[in-house]
Amino acid sequence: MAEISVNTEKKTDNATSTTGRVTKGGSEGGNKSGDSGSRGGYKSGNRGGDIGSRSGDSGSRGGYRGGSRSGDSRGRSGFGGRGGFGGGGFRGDSRGNVVDLKRRVRRFDMEKAAWVPKTEIGKKVANGEIKSIDEILEKNIRIKEPEIIEKLLPNLEEEILENKRVQRVTTNGRVMRFKVIMAVGDGDGHIGIGQGKAKEVPIAIQQAVRAAKLNLIKINRGCGSWFCNCGKQHTIPVTMVGTSGSVNVKLVPATGGLGLVAGEVTKKVLSLAGIKDVWSWSSGHTRTSLNLAQATVDALVKCKEMKK
Ligand SMILES: [Zn+2]
Repeated sequence: MAEISVNTEKKTDNATSTTGRVTKGGSEGGNKSGDSGSRGGYKSGNRGGDIGSRSGDSGSRGGYRGGSRSGDSRGRSGFGGRGGFGGGGFRGDSRGNVVDLKRRVRRFDMEKAAWVPKTEIGKKVANGEIKSIDEILEKNIRIKEPEIIEKLLPNLEEEILENKRVQRVTTNGRVMRFKVIMAVGDGDGHIGIGQGKAKEVPIAIQQAVRAAKLNLIKINRGCGSWFCNCGKQHTIPVTMVGTSGSVNVKLVPATGGLGLVAGEVTKKVLSLAGIKDVWSWSSGHTRTSLNLAQATVDALVKCKEMKK
């Protein structure tokens, strides 16, 4: 009965998260279980008494920390200890990823805090020698720092083209990640597509935006419609087919005021690129949003090549 009373004390203390010192002789284990107050503590407490409850607590807690700490510290681990090992094996993986995520987030924060240019182009942009993004893009120089684009095109808009959950099957189970495809553009002839994959959606978006900025290209607009001849830059200069994978996208110049006759993804890409009127047809596996978007961009790029 004494043990049970101790357990009840422990339960209440767990609930108020000030355990540890009340349990007899268990300063170490008590401290470890500390603020957990979890279900594991209740279950193994009923079975194995005081020690069981302690190891149960630390086991369910130690699952996040790797598990080795839980069962071994008390010679008699019981169910809690085993749970600790199981949890440790399973979640040791996720623990590594958590650290990884933190590192990544920190990296992004640092980049946002202060930009120290590393490449030559970056230094020139930071000095103010290069004032237009077209100077870089016309020379076909590879941009390796997204801050260059942020500085030269401050009014970039971002659009999510696709956001889906993907799974990888491992021996421990399924690992889930989010795959995000983003398009960035200034609505004035610049467009970029990028893809990001991460455990969390915001980080995947950050990655995708970063990739999209690095993929930024300039496209040519014009008025190639036979019925318009207005000379404004509202549609594309010629009919063009772009491909990526199995996807073909055909873009045809249209008269002013028609709008974008296109699917959802194609429409987002075209509007970010600054095209207002166009007819479009697509074929192939257009459910692959990345290929669809890249095929659209490919068609726009080919228009530019034709003009030269
Ligand atoms: Zn026109």
